[in-house]
Amino acid sequence: MREHKIVVLKGDGIGPEIVDEALKVLDAAGEKFGFKMVCDERLMGGAAIDATGVPLPQETVDACKAADCVFLGAVGGPKWDSQPGSNRPEAGLLGIRSALGLYANLRPATIFKPLKSASPIKDEIIGDSMDILIVRELTGGIYFGKRGTGEENGVAFAYDTEQYSVPEIRRIAKTAFEMAMKRNKKLTSVDKANVLDSSRLWRKTVIEMSADYPEVELNHMYVDNCAMQLVRNPKQFDVIVTSNMFGDILSDEASMISGSIGMLASASLAEGKFGLYEPIHGSAPDIAGQGIANPLATILSAAMMLRYSLDEPQAASAIESAVNAALETVRTPDIYEEGFRKVSTSEMGDAVASLL
Ligand code: NAD
Repeated sequence: MREHKIVVLKGDGIGPEIVDEALKVLDAAGEKFGFKMVCDERLMGGAAIDATGVPLPQETVDACKAADCVFLGAVGGPKWDSQPGSNRPEAGLLGIRSALGLYANLRPATIFKPLKSASPIKDEIIGDSMDILIVRELTGGIYFGKRGTGEENGVAFAYDTEQYSVPEIRRIAKTAFEMAMKRNKKLTSVDKANVLDSSRLWRKTVIEMSADYPEVELNHMYVDNCAMQLVRNPKQFDVIVTSNMFGDILSDEASMISGSIGMLASASLAEGKFGLYEPIHGSAPDIAGQGIANPLATILSAAMMLRYSLDEPQAASAIESAVNAALETVRTPDIYEEGFRKVSTSEMGDAVASLL
């Protein structure tokens, strides 16, 4: 039997509740498709601060590096808000991204047919479905560039710089082209090449790389236009690739098209097949411990993990279909509509597992 060794970081707030449901679904998928998940549970975030004094213990980093990939719930909460910035739960998150070299953030923005009414976008714009994948560069650009503050003639100033090298652009573009090859073979590269030198280098490099992917239809779009097109005609997109800051903004905008934060998964990939998988939402301390959190984003993150890191694409698709099927009958409170059965976090996990 195939064995997949993963590190599980349940984290804080609703993290443990939603991760348990995803592990339940992964076990059910393993039974059906002939693999076994071997889970090594480690500490990160507030839970790690309580137990060890720091949000990202070195043992956690070492265990992650030795695993096939990493599965995360969410971290943070008011209990740790008074910690200094470098020792907050969220510092663990940034720390693990850089320790594991996670340079590509993948965020699908999907409309689930049974949840179409939750989208703020009109029916005639969305049609029957929408399925966009945003590939965001995660370890370069303005969030990691030269920065500073100062004062000149009594006037305070501050600056941050956007810098990308050709290898950094090639690396993220390769991920995006390969994703497009597995999907509808359409890639939109988003930049601000009419104004920024870094964007002009981005565009030139992506065009050069397109020679290696003749089947992929490549187009370029300025970021301001893309922000507008995402709400005007989101169906025109298949895969979008962009820089760290543009991707940060556009992926949040695109995720709102689905209308429900409890439904959206994400992956952060390193070289090779290694990745970290997590829902896009946070630890939702306001509903933690009540058994009402929606576990579907986490379950869908598990499906991404099976597809991108563990070579189990059939199991991944089966989980996605089971989620769609479950939505036809049961709903957690955040996505509840009249006519459906309102269920708890664990009942939703049971429903998906039994539909596999
Ligand atoms: P949040 O995503 O945790 O919650 C926003 C709202 O959405 C809340 O009302 C919450 O109840 C609801 N919500 C979120 N996930 C849900 C789910 N699965 N089911 C039902 N409802 C859900 O964002 P926030 O309140 O801004 O942040 C809370 C904490 O999470 C903070 O400490 C923040 O730093 C942290 N955070 C962590 C991550 C991460 O671990 N990757 C990401 C974002 C925020």
